[in-house]
Amino acid sequence: MKRVGVLSLQGDFEAHGKALERAGAEPVYVREPEQLRDLDGLIIPGGESTTMLKLLHYEGLMDALAEFGRRKPVFGTCAGAILMANQVSSPAQESLGLTDMAVERNAYGRQVDSRVVELDPDRAFQERTAPGKLEAVFIRAPIIRRVGENAKVLARYNGDPVLVEEGQYLVATFHPELTQDSRVHRYFLEKL
Ligand code: GLN
Repeated sequence: MKRVGVLSLQGDFEAHGKALERAGAEPVYVREPEQLRDLDGLIIPGGESTTMLKLLHYEGLMDALAEFGRRKPVFGTCAGAILMANQVSSPAQESLGLTDMAVERNAYGRQVDSRVVELDPDRAFQERTAPGKLEAVFIRAPIIRRVGENAKVLARYNGDPVLVEEGQYLVATFHPELTQDSRVHRYFLEKL
């Protein structure tokens, strides 16, 4: 069974752990650099990216995660997507710079900005997982303003990319761990 780390400093890491179990992988809740050894991949969950950055520095995980991400598949949701992007605005902040992507934080507005919508994922995604619409929960989500030339946009909402694959990386601005549909996690597991 694949062993997949879930960064567990802050945010909804437990929901990702359960989603990984549903998708047939073993979650490892990562809080220290040593735990990254022997993992097949890593999930960076949603939460609050500024807080997560502080904790990453405090735990000495910043360089370890960047190094892990250069070698292995990483999947970031929401705050995790922000931490992976090489360009962050509103406000600007440091990141791991794994994906060639510009994200604007809290871009749907500051207060009432959470919603559940149905996405129509692209055909390749449906063929590799299973056909059908994808329920997507957005919580104070960022908007992806630019993707690099190696990116594949797997789903859009209002025309903006919300599920993007770039090489060994997968990024969602919504929260697939909060629904019962495990296709996005399964799609990620296929990269390992
Ligand atoms: N608004 C958060 C941030 O900027 C992300 C929200 C989320 O992960 N659900 O970090």
